[in-house]
Amino acid sequence: MHEYSLFLSLLKTIEDELKPFNNPRVSRAVLLIGEFSGIDLDYLKEVIKNFKVGTPLEDAEIIFEKDPLRVICFSCGKEGEPQEKRAQCPFCGSFEVKIIGGLDLILKTLEIEDEESPSD
Ligand SMILES: [Zn+2]
Repeated sequence: MHEYSLFLSLLKTIEDELKPFNNPRVSRAVLLIGEFSGIDLDYLKEVIKNFKVGTPLEDAEIIFEKDPLRVICFSCGKEGEPQEKRAQCPFCGSFEVKIIGGLDLILKTLEIEDEESPSD
């Protein structure tokens, strides 16, 4: 249930974001899914669909975007996206790289409407 625990930590992040508002409603959430994260996107969508009722995501439009694998190379110092999905420098071929992106589920954007503010 890796995807379920990801969903729970996502909810925690969202709840923290909502704290400053009086009566917030999440209208849209954009999630970045790391290509190297091992997340099963179909399964994650299913988890969200089944468990979002009663959470701030219940009525939100949820957008999933891919977050490509990115590495920084210790040999040539460049930063890039490997063509093949493995931790290897796309410029010099070195495996002496640090993964700097594409490993996680990230909340990229959260659009919040505060229902106490005037609306149309
Ligand atoms: Zn390199």
